[in-house]
Amino acid sequence: MANKELINQVAKRRIFGIISHPDAGKTTLTEKLLLHGGAIREAGTVKAQKNSKYAKSDWMEIEKQRGISVTSSVMQFEYDEKMVSIMDTPGHNDFGEDTYRVLTSVDSAVMVIDAAKGIEAQTKKLFQVCRLRGIPIFTFMNKLDRQAKDPLELMEELEEVLGMPSVAVTWPIGSGMQFEGVYDRLENEVHLFRKDEVIKLGQDGVHGPELEAHLEPSNLENLRDEVDLLEGAGNEFNLDLVRAGELTPVFFGTALVDFGVTPFLNHFLDMSPAPGPRKTINGEVNPTDEVFSGFIFKIQANMNPAHRDRIAFLRICSGVFERGMNVMLSRTGKQIKLSQSTQLMANDRETIDRAYAGDVIGIYDSGTYQIGDTITSSKQKLFFEPLPTFPPELFLRVSPVNSLKSKHFHKGVEQLAQEGAIQVYKNEFNEVILGAVGQLQFEVFEYRLKNEYGSDIRKDHVDYNIARWVKTDDVKGLKKYQDMRNMLVYDRFERPLFLFANEFTFNRFKERHEELELVEALDVN
Ligand code: GDP
Repeated sequence: MANKELINQVAKRRIFGIISHPDAGKTTLTEKLLLHGGAIREAGTVKAQKNSKYAKSDWMEIEKQRGISVTSSVMQFEYDEKMVSIMDTPGHNDFGEDTYRVLTSVDSAVMVIDAAKGIEAQTKKLFQVCRLRGIPIFTFMNKLDRQAKDPLELMEELEEVLGMPSVAVTWPIGSGMQFEGVYDRLENEVHLFRKDEVIKLGQDGVHGPELEAHLEPSNLENLRDEVDLLEGAGNEFNLDLVRAGELTPVFFGTALVDFGVTPFLNHFLDMSPAPGPRKTINGEVNPTDEVFSGFIFKIQANMNPAHRDRIAFLRICSGVFERGMNVMLSRTGKQIKLSQSTQLMANDRETIDRAYAGDVIGIYDSGTYQIGDTITSSKQKLFFEPLPTFPPELFLRVSPVNSLKSKHFHKGVEQLAQEGAIQVYKNEFNEVILGAVGQLQFEVFEYRLKNEYGSDIRKDHVDYNIARWVKTDDVKGLKKYQDMRNMLVYDRFERPLFLFANEFTFNRFKERHEELELVEALDVN
């Protein structure tokens, strides 16, 4: 029997990530959510803290030089009796595999879209990762204070570009200079822009007389037409489909002016799921199980360069974490005492003594953990379904400048690959090829190899952009498929993959060799 405290704590928890294309407003929305939750007091804090943090730590000169964040953290706040965690998903130039992996730790995602631009490339990639996991996705159409695309067009784009059925929960009344508010279809009320006023509507909804005194006649007319259209031809709201990740509820507003954020937050917290069961390789773990368990989805290195320490990010999947508890690392069967743990809140680290299923905590790591590792208080080993390997799109051939240091070089390469900082492949000449989804991963690699392993590297650009693993039992037999237009390499588990320059060469290869099973991603392990 699960204990009552655990049941209550789990039911309160909501953990999500925000996905967006750079500049759509992720930081601004995060900040507004933290303000609503009382976690920060002033706007500008999220960015300001990012900067101050890097002044403190000199890990990553790159961060300072470029003024970006390589790290991602958890921001937790309490709102409406819920314990809400926002997982930061690095974007911009710091976009990398970490960004994808963070999404394996969350129970839902908020997709922020610039309503003037519609769906952009990075949003699409991150959306697909969420979709694969079947997690609920909530859409926030941002920047309605500026001239926006037609809202019906935006809804169509969701279906056409992402293939995702959508249902409008709030609806904008005009945009830009004409923006007058949002209509909350579920609550049947209108929030007026720049006026702290909410108008409750009667049974005739937007067709009733209540709005006539408040809205421009043309805006009201549009609103009535559009709402009729939505009611006639739009999807019906269905919470089960939302929670199954098959229908995205859509909200409109402006993060900057903090309008439309309140109805969004309230509905989001109602609709988004509390932590649920997680699949293991031979069953399921329930968050309210007494046995403590969790998995590591990210390792962040050298937060303190003097100690070479690392923080492993742990998503707790069941039970209660207590500082000092003994757990087993399933991969090795080793017992570990979890005495140093931190909660990462808006970049301030504080020691945490107790945490519950549905929380993410940082645990001190002196090189014990690998991405995907599972720890548990049970005597029985436990393995969650493996985290996927994401297809890299950028490649670089690297070698040590000083061949006398090649031992350091190879040790560093292996460590960083194990940490999941970068993907490492070897070709038949035993050359090291790095694979990444973001350019910054290369820079971090170079910096750390020099600073931690004393190895300067030589970099050779390689002209490939597409990677496909081959599912085969006859690895040796693959050599005959090599030609000028591809490269056969092996990942750190000795699994073969081909690199291609572009879609064209890849498609040609596929057509010619239909017998090969080429896949975009493989499970780790
Ligand atoms: P991120 O890259 O997705 O984190 O985007 P930011 O939150 O940093 O926002 C990018 C830019 O858009 C900044 O200049 C913001 O001030 C601006 N911005 C964000 N939300 C809004 C909004 O609702 N309206 C307007 N007009 N600008 C916004």
